[in-house]
Formats: sequence, structure tokens, C-alpha cells
Amino acid sequence: MSTAYLLLGSNLGNRTTILREAIDYLNATAGNVVAASALYETAAWGLEDQPAFLNQAICVQTTLLPLQLLETCQATEQRAGRERLIRWGARTLDVDILLYDDLVLNTARLILPHPRLPERRFALVPLVEIAADVMHPVLEKTVAELLAECTDTLKVTLTK
Ligand code: ATP
Ligand code: CA
Ligand code: CA
Repeated sequence: MSTAYLLLGSNLGNRTTILREAIDYLNATAGNVVAASALYETAAWGLEDQPAFLNQAICVQTTLLPLQLLETCQATEQRAGRERLIRWGARTLDVDILLYDDLVLNTARLILPHPRLPERRFALVPLVEIAADVMHPVLEKTVAELLAECTDTLKVTLTK
């Protein structure tokens, strides 16, 4: 059994419903979702002229191998009607694998840990809520330490 941390993001459609249904689907297909952060709202990162994102981090106990988990994440996106248009553009659902045990992987299809995690407050804030003490296997710092050092200035707002 492996432990994976995923980041869900939505900035098109009914974002709250899309995230809830994505968690239900992942719970049925990827493995038990044993923790979920609150929902956080953040202005779009990288390509700014688009609606704000709602983001949520979850912890999944899974028997899927990393590439199988990636395929399940992508199936979840497809189920939410995601269309792959432009890089970092608006989408109903994005599901990224942030961490998978302490695995370090660098392939064309999958990079672990997620390469942009340390520079994204919108990923670190929800992740800290459920995994503050988890160690980044390359940087050898905890998630909480990464957040304390993060220089991203985009504001991440807790929603009710
Ligand atoms: P970003 O990766 O900067 O968050 P994005 O999520 O908008 O951007 P996508 O278009 O969703 O990018 O994904 C592009 C590709 O990234 C995917 O097809 C997948 O093969 C690859 N990828 C590499 N590492 C990961 C990872 N850890 N989690 C999810 N996808 C990954
Ligand atoms: Ca992403
Ligand atoms: Ca993605």
C-alpha cells in the first residue's frame, strides 16, 4: 500500500461540485481517500487572465503504481469534462500527483514529486493542512518548511 498526495483544482463550472464528485470517483477507483483539506481559492497561476481556482489537497491510500495512478487522475479529469486546450489554461478539473511515498521519478509522463510544488503557495497551503510533517524526498524539508520558504505572492484564501 502506498500513500499519495494529490492536488485537485477547478476554475470552470460548479467548482465545488466538481471537486466533491472527483473525490468520490477517486475514492472508488484510486483507493481510500483518508484525508482532505478545506477548499482554498487562488487567482490563476502562470496564465493570469482566467477565473480563480478552487484547490483541495487529498491523501489517498492506494495499491496503484504511479503511472496507473496518473491514468486514474486523468480519467477523473475526463469524467469532469476537461478539455485540454492550452497549457495552464482554464479547466473544469486538474488532478496532479504531488507526492507518492518517498518516490523520486523523472520520466516523460510523470515527474515525482511534482516539480512545481515548492514554488506554488496554492498547492503548499492545502497540503500543509493534511501533511505538514511529510518530507519532500529531494529537498529533504517538510511540507511546512517548504511553505515557510515559499516566495509565491499569490494569495490563498480559505473558503467556508
Ligand atoms: P502543471 O504540471 O504545471 O501543474 P498542468 O497541470 O496544467 O500544469 P497538464 O496539462 O494537466 O498540466 O499536464 C501535462 C502533463 O504533465 C500530463 O499529461 C502528465 O503526463 C504530466 N505530469 C508529469 N508529472 C506529473 C505529476 N506529478 N502529476 C500530474 N501530471 C504530471
Ligand atoms: Ca496542475
Ligand atoms: Ca495536471
